Amino acid sequence: MIFIHRDIAAPQDPLRRPLRVLPGVGPSRQQLLAKMGLFTVRDLLYYLPFRYEDRSHPTPLGDLTPGDNVVVIGRIVAVADQKLRGPKVTQVTRLTLRDRTGQAVALFFNQPYLARQLRPGQAVMVMGRADRRFGGWEISAHAWELWERDSAHAGRIVPVYQVTEGLSVRALRGLIRAALDAALPGLVDVLPEPMRARLGLADLGSALEAVHFPADIASAERGRRRLAWEELFLLELGLGMTRQYRQAREAGVAHAPDGPLVSAFFASLPFTLTPGQARAWQEIRADMESPAPMNRLLQGDVGSGKTVVAAAAMVKAVEGGYQAAMMAPTEILAEQHGLTLSRLFAPLGIEVRVLTGSLDGRAREESLAAIAGGAIPVVVGTHALIQEAVTFANLGLVITDEQHRFGVRQRAALRAKGGAPDVLVMTATPIPRTLAMTVFGDLDVSVISGLPPGRRPVQTFWFRRDQRARVYRGLAKELDRGHQGYVICPLIEESEKLQVQAAAELAAELQAGYLRNYRVGLLHGRMNTAEKASVFERFRNGDIQVLVSTTVVEVGVDVPNATMIVIEEADRFGLAQLHQLRGRVGRGAAPSYCVLVADPQSDTARQRLETMCREHDGFRIAEADLALRGPGEVLGTRQSGLPDLRVADLVRDQELLVQARTEAAGLLAQDPGLRGHPLLRQAVVDMFRDRAFFASIG
Ligand code: ADP
Ligand code: MG
Repeated sequence: MIFIHRDIAAPQDPLRRPLRVLPGVGPSRQQLLAKMGLFTVRDLLYYLPFRYEDRSHPTPLGDLTPGDNVVVIGRIVAVADQKLRGPKVTQVTRLTLRDRTGQAVALFFNQPYLARQLRPGQAVMVMGRADRRFGGWEISAHAWELWERDSAHAGRIVPVYQVTEGLSVRALRGLIRAALDAALPGLVDVLPEPMRARLGLADLGSALEAVHFPADIASAERGRRRLAWEELFLLELGLGMTRQYRQAREAGVAHAPDGPLVSAFFASLPFTLTPGQARAWQEIRADMESPAPMNRLLQGDVGSGKTVVAAAAMVKAVEGGYQAAMMAPTEILAEQHGLTLSRLFAPLGIEVRVLTGSLDGRAREESLAAIAGGAIPVVVGTHALIQEAVTFANLGLVITDEQHRFGVRQRAALRAKGGAPDVLVMTATPIPRTLAMTVFGDLDVSVISGLPPGRRPVQTFWFRRDQRARVYRGLAKELDRGHQGYVICPLIEESEKLQVQAAAELAAELQAGYLRNYRVGLLHGRMNTAEKASVFERFRNGDIQVLVSTTVVEVGVDVPNATMIVIEEADRFGLAQLHQLRGRVGRGAAPSYCVLVADPQSDTARQRLETMCREHDGFRIAEADLALRGPGEVLGTRQSGLPDLRVADLVRDQELLVQARTEAAGLLAQDPGLRGHPLLRQAVVDMFRDRAFFASIG
């Protein structure tokens, strides 16, 4: 329990009041607002418009142009009610308006009550489309307002909000005006004045006024930035406090400094680390040697060489007498890692054991006993690793591959297998650094930038389905050069059975047709481990020339002689997935190709294909993905346990995020529990209330 003190802040803080204190909010309106997630005055005031309408520049009635959408102000000279008889009876209210420059008739359809509300002599603002009719001007009106100075709805830039049935934009706008008027006098700003001054941030009151009722669009954006900054700052404070707490509470493993085994490992590699790998390795070993538990994310593009760095960390753990475990999202990947690690560790005499769900009775018992007894230093597995039956003698390092496939809970479960082992999370879905540090909460981040020398970008092409013959002639040419290839079958997410069937049919079609002179193999998720392993071995040793596969090859599979990948119906895949698949080739020195076969049905699908042909850098692709799909989808922020953001956008506001993170770290260094900043502390607690994330530290 560190900061689960509630209600420290002044109870008179007007933002904390319930909405029913506002005039015009009775039980039914309160219910509507609650449906929109709005409960307190704060909720309402941080509910921002999605656009603004400029009603500050009315068009003089003498200056109308046919077809223009206009805002006009005039005095009513006549109100007339009319019924038009057509197939249906239409009721029309005709409002004759005049200003100093001219006259026009505003038409309102099917609003009979208007004739009762409006009287000659009143001034109104009308919005609608101007047209020339019978020598006069008519405006087909879609909205009107009584014209008064200082109106929330007219004669200014007005906010437009997303609303729900039963609550009009106008009503919500009125409520927000009332809430602002009620709250502004007693408003408490959580951001300390010196900080605001230093960073050039508006005070809370001006920011709230500006986002709802801006003098101009620029000040609305300045207001939004201030609110977004505050939100990101609180977010980073919460994340920072969680991390501080964990580090203070958990005594982790202090691994030994590098010894002869680590040196032997690096000496055994046929290459030296790239500068990016070397930097990541320095960060990881420093973390490992420190007694605080490591909690680090290792990011790098596909093929950047993350596995070698992770392997070095395992060697370091083993050298100091600890066990190391690696968890992969699929069996095939676990097997693959097992194989890679066995090869890497063979010269060092470090034994690697693969533990997956399909391991059967006796072998499984034997493995479990050996792991529990500490006889096996390195264990690789799938989720099976976090099953209860698995115990370790002395687990000092846990590596999880492909973080985005595991939830926080699973990671925590694996961590709990050891006292507080160091944790390294690898991901090949790279996202910008600060974003990663935030979305992955309390993780430190290492980035392997750059690829091993000599790699050429995989040339990527997009062909239509009716060009398949040409595509497969291209693949045949690669095979004739002694290379190998992959063909990925269309993604069928609805049913694994249909997916398997599709893969089998595609393999048969190719073997009988375009690729009849070559050896085609098949790989899919329903094969058992032995079958998969045998297919893999045959592909690796060249017995299979073309591997037709479902996305089970998506991650980690490493056969450098494969130089071409064909992805059928590529428009069904997401960007990250396409980039992963493409990463299966381009692993050797020969030029490599990726061919996307697709007849896309939508613009975004087309954009994805074009992005793939143009971009080769995983970070850039991730950014394009974020722009196309939005952060929630791409990052799975829900799963990450982060609080919902109302104002800030993790992608669009990255610049603010970086600044907020730095400021939060600075403040927490001076005042770790924020005891000297009770307002901020309360705001952080409010923001993280009921989050699994905070619950985990309680
Ligand atoms: P990732 O896991 O990041 O996708 P891998 O670790 O599978 O990448 O590495 C891709 C390939 O590059 C492997 O064949 C690996 O042996 C090779 N490799 C890794 N690091 C280097 C390096 N520094 N120089 C040359 N080749 C490297
Ligand atoms: Mg450590």
